[in-house]
Formats: sequence, structure tokens, C-alpha cells
Amino acid sequence: MDITKIRADFPILSREIYGKPLVYFDNGATTQKPRCVVDAIVEEYYSVNANVHRGVHFLSQQATELHEGSRETVRQFVNAHSTSEVIFTRGTTEAINLVAFCFGEEFMNEGDEVIISTMEHHSNIVPWQLLAARKGITLKVIPMTDQGELLLDEYEKLFSERTKIVSIAHISNVLGTINPVKEMIETAHAHGVPVLIDGAQSVPHMQIDVQDLDADFFAFSGHKVYGPTGVGVLYGKEEWLDKLPPYQGGGEMIQSVSFEKTTFNELPFKFEAGTPDYIGTTGLAKALNYVSAIGMDQIVAHDQELTAYAMQRLKEIEGMRIFGEAEHKSSVISFLVGNIHHFDMGTLLDRLGIAVRTGHHCAEPLMRRLGIEGTVRASFGLYNTKEEIDSLIDGIERVRKMF
Ligand code: PMP
Repeated sequence: MDITKIRADFPILSREIYGKPLVYFDNGATTQKPRCVVDAIVEEYYSVNANVHRGVHFLSQQATELHEGSRETVRQFVNAHSTSEVIFTRGTTEAINLVAFCFGEEFMNEGDEVIISTMEHHSNIVPWQLLAARKGITLKVIPMTDQGELLLDEYEKLFSERTKIVSIAHISNVLGTINPVKEMIETAHAHGVPVLIDGAQSVPHMQIDVQDLDADFFAFSGHKVYGPTGVGVLYGKEEWLDKLPPYQGGGEMIQSVSFEKTTFNELPFKFEAGTPDYIGTTGLAKALNYVSAIGMDQIVAHDQELTAYAMQRLKEIEGMRIFGEAEHKSSVISFLVGNIHHFDMGTLLDRLGIAVRTGHHCAEPLMRRLGIEGTVRASFGLYNTKEEIDSLIDGIERVRKMF
């Protein structure tokens, strides 16, 4: 990977913050955008913009082709069987809410159970709690080791005849743990239970093949994979999506409407009420093509190199506590140093131009499990370098000496 060339694609990386070169280590929250993504968005607004589907005029047809072409790009990127299985959403959060709502509506009743894990993001906890409040379902939680690995024996024990769905993160946004989701899906299927994978943190960092995983549902966000904000994807197996009721009502999702009876559109449109973010989907497709052009193998190798280097260097720091030491770990590193508050560490690193995230990372139950209130989190992207990790280490040492 030619990092210098890659970095030149991201204008924001040449910014200075407080007179220091920006070191952007908050990629788990959102990634920066390459010029080609922003250019595609600007270009479509300037020269193609028109509402998609059903338009007879030239621009509408061109915009529709771009939008549906983007769906095909997503299909290829995650290796879905058909574009009918690719639903555009606002992001991972909306995709999970869609499944919790529609699957819950159709298939879950009082006393039924959903299995989630200790390391879920709030967006894979709260939608199920809303369903619990509405329908009286129960949440079962897979426990984990102190290293941050899910206990698979305990997972298997959670299944009962009331288990209706499993919903788990592919990669933890706090611990970086890469969960063995293929194996976990196999276990669930052996019990006749479908699985939703929260791929928010995995799509930017590993090759995704939804058919190989045999995932029933798979959610991710465009903005975490170098694409624009406001657009994401829910993949769902056609056999499941066909059985679910619509999520929201409105234009686009209907076949015909009368005051007496409405029939719904075919997949994937049944789940896409209203004008879609057709400009956003163009940006997302550009981002996925950008990632593909670099090559996921290269990205994974780069990630692993940065992670190994950062883990080794961080551990040299006195008082360092790292949260998440799973054998299979992605480039997300959470830590605390001595008794320095995560917020103080983050604020002082920021003065050195280093952007890290601090706090509970939308995973309060996980923080409780770890017995802490929050961490400092450094998460890497494809443009980060070992020199930037050196700057982080120097920065942490400076802060440590101040306290
Ligand atoms: N799940 C995980 C594991 C995440 O890291 C995030 C974002 N931090 C989300 C879900 C939610 O993603 P979004 O806010 O883009 O919907």
C-alpha cells in the first residue's frame, strides 16, 4: 500500500489542529472521505440531480441508474445473492431497528427471547429493549472473558425453544474483538434461529461475504467505510425479507394504494419508504469501489501491522491498561493510563493534534462489565501510519508526566 498516495486522496489529513499535524485516530466513530467520494456527490448534485424511480425524464432515469447501480456495487461488495436483498437505510442503527421492529412484529410474542452479547453497541441493545417494552420479549446476554472474547459454551446454553433471533456485533467498537460469527451463526441455525450481524466495525476492516457467513441479516454504515453520512445498508436473505411486514409507510414502498386497501412494493423497495438518499448511495458506491481498488487484503495486512505495533508500544507505557486482548483483534484499541481520567487524556491529546475518542463508546453495559466508566479509544483507518502511532505514544507519555 502506498500510504503517501492514499493520504493525498484525503484532503482533511493535511489539516493542522492547534498548529500540529492532524493525527486522526477516531475511525471507529467515522472515517474521513476521499476526494473521489465528495467529487461524486458534488457532480451528481450539479449535473444529474432528479428524484429517482418512475420519472420519465432523462435526469430521473440517469439518477435511477446511478442509484440502482450503487445497489449492485453493494451487492458485490458483501456478495449478496441478489440486489433484492440490499436495502438502503440511514445506517447501522436504522437497519437494526428495522429488523427488531419488523421481525419482532411478525415472529415474536410475550416470553420469546433474543440473544445479544455483553459487548453490543447501544444500537444493538435499545431496539430490542423497545421491543421488550412493546411485546414482553426477553434479552439474553452472552457473557465474555476478561480478554474480551465471547464464551461460546455459555452462548450455546442460552438457546431455548423461546429463542427467536440472535443479534451480535461482528467486531466490538470498544475491544476490537473479531467475534467468530460464522461459527455462532452455525450454532444458531442448528437451533433453527436466524442471526443479525452488526457489521458497523467489520465492513471497513475485513472482506465480507454474507453468503459464506450464512448471515440472515447484516447491517452496516456508509460513513464508517469512507462513504458519506446518512446512508447505510441492511442485507437480508430474501426468504426472511419476504416474510417481514414493511417498516415505514409512504411513497416508494407501495404497489397500489386506495383508501380501502394498499399493496406493497416488491423487495427491496418494500422497506424503503420515501425518497431515498440517492446521492448518498452514489457516494457509498464510490467509497466501496475505492476500498476495493486498494484491496481488502492489503487493508487487513496494514490494519494488523498498525495494531500489533500500537499494542506493543502502548504496553511499554507505565500504568497502561488495555481493554480487549482477544486473539482475533481488529484495529480498535481501548485503554486507560494510571488514574488519569479518559476525558483528561483525550482533551490533552487533542491539544497535540491527536483525535481519539473518550467515554463509554455507546456501550455502557460493557463498561459495567469491565468495571470502568470509560476508556480512551484509538481506532485506525487505511490512511494511518506507524509514525502517527509514535506521535500518540509520545503524546500519552507527555500527559502521563503531567499527572
Ligand atoms: N454498531 C457498532 C458496533 C458501532 O460501532 C456503531 C457506531 N459507533 C453502530 C452500531 C451505530 O452506527 P451508526 O451510528 O452509523 O448507525
